[in-house]
Amino acid sequence: MEKIKMTTPLVEMDGDEMTRIIWKMIKDELLLPFVDLKTEYYDLGLPKRDETNDEITKAAGEAIKKYGVGVKCATITPNAQRMEEYHLHKMWKSPNGTIRAILDGTVFRAPIIIDDIKPVVKNWEKPITIARHAYGDLYKGTEYRVPEKGKAELVFTGESGETFRETVYDFECPGILQGIYNKDTSITSFARACFQYALDTKQDLWFSAKDTISKKYDMRFRDVFQSVYENEFKEAFDKLGLTYFYTLIDDAVARVIRSKGGFIWALKNYDGDVMSDMVSTAFGSLAMMTSVLCSPDGKFEYEAAHGTVTRHYYRYLKGEETSTNPMATIYAWSGALRKRGEMDGLNDLVDFANRLEAACIKTLNDGIMTKDLVGLVEGKPVQAVNTIDFIRAIRKNLESA
Ligand code: NAP
Ligand code: MG
Repeated sequence: MEKIKMTTPLVEMDGDEMTRIIWKMIKDELLLPFVDLKTEYYDLGLPKRDETNDEITKAAGEAIKKYGVGVKCATITPNAQRMEEYHLHKMWKSPNGTIRAILDGTVFRAPIIIDDIKPVVKNWEKPITIARHAYGDLYKGTEYRVPEKGKAELVFTGESGETFRETVYDFECPGILQGIYNKDTSITSFARACFQYALDTKQDLWFSAKDTISKKYDMRFRDVFQSVYENEFKEAFDKLGLTYFYTLIDDAVARVIRSKGGFIWALKNYDGDVMSDMVSTAFGSLAMMTSVLCSPDGKFEYEAAHGTVTRHYYRYLKGEETSTNPMATIYAWSGALRKRGEMDGLNDLVDFANRLEAACIKTLNDGIMTKDLVGLVEGKPVQAVNTIDFIRAIRKNLESA
């Protein structure tokens, strides 16, 4: 059989621990036998990041900018314990944060759904994609524990001198205080990424915040979304029959729960953090959540939403069998290959990505799955297998397709 050809390289970013093991299994069993894989390889495994002073991460980010599509394995974000474990000479930043800063992107998360695993919310038939603004607000906030009686003020000093001062509260007793901010540039990028992704996936876009209470802060988000929509995207949305609407977050929560799914829900940083955990739990499992970073100028980075699955890796190192779910990592590859195929006009590659996903779904529908999913299936006998046997079962289905 002739292998499927590629014309532009995919930016391949290898990672750490259990997902690094799975990465190789996926390439060997599901990709290399079928595709003449053309990648520019970046090893983002922690030892290599340490050795290169993390320059490799920046180079990978720049490569995505250049080629347009990347696929990333989960990576360790170092903490004190990792400093010791890997004898690091610095506590390197999260690679995802570094790449996000280079691409100025928004993160979209969506569950992979199968018939036998029912969402907790019974009427959800299609995936709900959460778009989280990953900049500012609480995550860059300034906090103060007010120790005594006193006056708190909000002061802004403009380039041209002081222009704004207002009392936040006249404290008659100790309390707490917090200052947060966001920027027009970041909110605009966020809005553009959301509209672009909605067009790309042909889904409606919802945006919700609390502008009735936060009449300047949240209202600014609402206004930016509205003007980006009207000036840049309305025509394309109309053409595809898609809708955009803003609604108060209270109303959105009620509508989401009563919906059938199948749309993108854009949220501010904190709202997106909390709601994406709720949505992924309600759909079943973190191991079935896909994640894509999409920049406002149409660059894409695909990955799994989960981490490096450290607990399984330590068992793997002891020679024990592991049943780690590779679904989200396989979908990172299929998503990236499909996007590469679409950009380069390679129908064979797009077809392959679709067939790979169909083979995964068929394997699960046949009741062959990793341990994490077994408890979620209702009313059907299923077989729990280890990672490599699951991948080989997918390969069998892929070959017969
Ligand atoms: P994690 O790797 O997502 O794993 C947490 C737990 O979730 C696992 O122990 C496992 O539960 C379950 N799980 C996650 N993915 C699974 C899969 N594919 N198959 C089966 N079970 C799965 O999160 P973590 O343990 O908090 O973090 C580990 C490392 O990953 C950290 O160093 C962190 O910095 C990094 N991380 C990286 C990314 C990224 O690169 N995008 C994201 C998050 C975390 P059981 O043990 O109960 O089976
Ligand atoms: Mg969270």
